[in-house]
Amino acid sequence: MLNFPIFPTTFGLFIFWKMGTGGENTAMNYFPLTTEQQEWKERVAEIAAREIGPRAATADRLAQYPRESLEALRAANLWALRTSREYGGLGADLVTTCLVVEEIAKKCPSTGMCYKMHLEATELVNRIPTPYQVERFVKPLARGEVFATIAGGETGGATGSDWRPNAMEVSTCRQVDGGFQLDHVRKSYVTSAGHATHYLLLSRLEGRPTQEMPDFLMVEREHIDWQVVGEWNGLGMRGNSSNPMVFTGVVPAEHRLGIGHEDEPVIPKYMMPLLILTYGAAYLGIASGAYELACQEATTRFPSGARRLDAPINQRRFAEMSAQIEAARALLHAAAAMADSGRARSPVPYVQAKVLCSEAAVRVTQDVMTIFGGTAFAARLPFERYFRDARAGLVMGMANDQAYEMIANMLFPKS
Ligand SMILES: Cc1cc2nc3c(=O)[nH]c(=O)nc-3n(C[C@H](O)[C@H](O)[C@H](O)COP(=O)(O)OP(=O)(O)OC[C@H]3O[C@@H](n4cnc5c(N)ncnc54)[C@H](O)[C@@H]3O)c2cc1C
Repeated sequence: MLNFPIFPTTFGLFIFWKMGTGGENTAMNYFPLTTEQQEWKERVAEIAAREIGPRAATADRLAQYPRESLEALRAANLWALRTSREYGGLGADLVTTCLVVEEIAKKCPSTGMCYKMHLEATELVNRIPTPYQVERFVKPLARGEVFATIAGGETGGATGSDWRPNAMEVSTCRQVDGGFQLDHVRKSYVTSAGHATHYLLLSRLEGRPTQEMPDFLMVEREHIDWQVVGEWNGLGMRGNSSNPMVFTGVVPAEHRLGIGHEDEPVIPKYMMPLLILTYGAAYLGIASGAYELACQEATTRFPSGARRLDAPINQRRFAEMSAQIEAARALLHAAAAMADSGRARSPVPYVQAKVLCSEAAVRVTQDVMTIFGGTAFAARLPFERYFRDARAGLVMGMANDQAYEMIANMLFPKS
């Protein structure tokens, strides 16, 4: 076995040079994938290139919901990615889930985010359904009849991204005959607003503990009064339709998720790994999508014969971008594998992966904007779209400021 550090510098460099002539500028996946995981990655990459990428620019320009792209995912049964095989789903693990979300987001971050929200919103019911919920939600999920999203934060004067359980400002719903009453409950940002068939609604429910995480209700679009407020005109993620929504009506008590698991920390245990890691995967997809496109474009020749890649400063930028992406991806997959095998002792690896992936997206898209200069600035290449989309990663889900505070608190618990 070669032991590089003991080679004289010149010879070591020669070996590295010999190893590095393969033009390996696309995803290498340092984390070892199983054959099945690799096949899913390739299958979804092919669907994304054929069905999703060609629609991404229009979705962004017109702030148009990526319905056809999501339909293509449904046709491949990917709406049931995390649904148990027992009920007809694909039963994918978290490493596969991260691969799938990254490949979609590479081609269209908005589609990737809408799809990620669907996975997040259906994770609890996929993992711990009651027998009623199996019939009502899980089997329809497997048949591609359910496309869900999260209706979480409300504008309540406090910070919308504060995820500490007792800091979450969400409506309290009265207990009424047969269920819980929603009285004009207004959610601030609901991705797939009005398009999704099901809304995982975060609420404080009368009669439930108040010092813990709020509860989740699965709300069906067909059985509630709902209204989408205004138009979604975001800086990035313009296809998301992440509008405010208002809900009124009674949600049956059987639609509360986690029934029968009252003694467990349901959300941290069953939902958090997927929730946080798929944010990471979506933002990693922005970084790797922009990077892969940049690798192609940087080798095309100007009339003079020169290429952008010929400039040493750009070579340095490509080297840095590749290192950032591979580091983020390696941590993301390692964290996902820890979750799959039950090895994580805390959510630290998930949150670290999320911040690293979203920061990779911001840095990589910033660099490609510089490398491609006026062409990028004038939107002749789609780098400015990736650049705008990447910004959401710093503030959404758990905002990175808050994520770092959470990591610090978990590393140094207050006594
Ligand atoms: C494109 C997009 C799609 C979204 N989709 C959905 C969705 O489908 N469902 C849904 O429920 N929500 C969604 N959201 C909302 C998102 O998850 C956040 O809740 C929201 O962006 C927070 O917005 P805010 O304006 O209230 O920010 P604020 O909470 O005011 O945060 C602003 C900044 O304050 C700081 N901050 C806030 N709290 C803390 C803290 N405790 N510690 C340290 N710093 C803090 C951070 O720097 C943060 O970046 C979406 C948001 C975006 C941008």
